[in-house]
Amino acid sequence: MICLFLLFTTQNLCLNNNFIRIEKSIYILAIESSCDDTSAAILHNGKVLSNVVANQEIHSAYGGVVPELASRAHQQNIVPVVQQALQRANIVKKDLSAIAFTKGPGLMGSLLVGTSFAKSLAQALQIPLIAVNHMQAHILAHFIEEDSYPKPPFPFLCLTISGGHTEIVKISDYFEMEILGSTLDDAVGEAYDKSAKILGLGYPGGPLIDKLAQSGNPKAYQFTKPKVGPLDFSFSGLKTAILYFIRKKQAENPDFIKENLADICASIQHTIVTILMDKIANAVEQTGITHIAIAGGVSANSEIRKRLKETEKTKKWTAYIPKFEYTTDNAAMIGIVGYYKYLIDTFDPNTITASSRLKVDE
Ligand code: ADP
Ligand code: MG
Repeated sequence: MICLFLLFTTQNLCLNNNFIRIEKSIYILAIESSCDDTSAAILHNGKVLSNVVANQEIHSAYGGVVPELASRAHQQNIVPVVQQALQRANIVKKDLSAIAFTKGPGLMGSLLVGTSFAKSLAQALQIPLIAVNHMQAHILAHFIEEDSYPKPPFPFLCLTISGGHTEIVKISDYFEMEILGSTLDDAVGEAYDKSAKILGLGYPGGPLIDKLAQSGNPKAYQFTKPKVGPLDFSFSGLKTAILYFIRKKQAENPDFIKENLADICASIQHTIVTILMDKIANAVEQTGITHIAIAGGVSANSEIRKRLKETEKTKKWTAYIPKFEYTTDNAAMIGIVGYYKYLIDTFDPNTITASSRLKVDE
């Protein structure tokens, strides 16, 4: 619980039961480079002043991210992206209080670009360096100061769904997180991307399937749901089921995909989102927690947003749906973690290195 009171020109904040001092003006430069988006953001006291994201178009030709091409593109993008973030925020480098960067998880070559850049700049400016766990950042994006986006109270549950992760996390405090269940194989974003590839659509496939699904019948085709533990996920079987289904239908009618694309997409989306909703319901039943957030790239999905929001009426849960721009990888979410770490003086030495594997509770 946060207790806030004014003391002359500074504020004191209670975080993890420690009182900490809030300076009047904290400017964080945040850098995200874990996968295929180069992003930089400036936050002022937890509010986003700028959030620049350079998407790497180069991967769409390959149907997935090519790690070596990603790190090269980060090298080209990082300086202009940081410059643009400073410009849009209307501040200069010497105004910065600290630099936050993604330490992991992600592609090692990509992470190294952001890590090295952040370390050099922090050293040059003689300001603190803050390493951020990308998975914590997806969740804590809910604490970015935004009008009409209430922050979830502790404890809450978060369904973190992205291209690399699918997990249900219990959040008891800013940096107290516990994984209750996760995928045993593919992530949900991968299921979307691989399904899109089978259908001959581009990359990333999630937004394409989501868009096509809008005009299709979600009950047109049935796909069996995986049989795993109540809080676990599995998507590799679904991907194979979709592949065999399409092959069989194409043998009967070579134009099957073209003639039924919207119905196929709507049916895939319905199956995936129903699996996700069922798992959240299991987690609510097990924990008794009814404040539910979603985070990560797949939380941009229109169906999961709609169905979670509906539970506010049907189940009396409270749903926390992130602002669209904070769903897929972005530096603003890295910045909010940087801000909360700055408040409790959690800084990192210049010897820090990137970690390609990092769990949300590490
Ligand atoms: P990462 O897994 O690298 O952290 P993100 O958090 O940016 O990446 O998530 C990217 C994933 O989100 C991709 O798999 C993409 O297909 C998926 N995605 C993005 N928008 C949607 C959407 N509207 N519906 C479903 N999936 C989506
Ligand atoms: Mg991500």
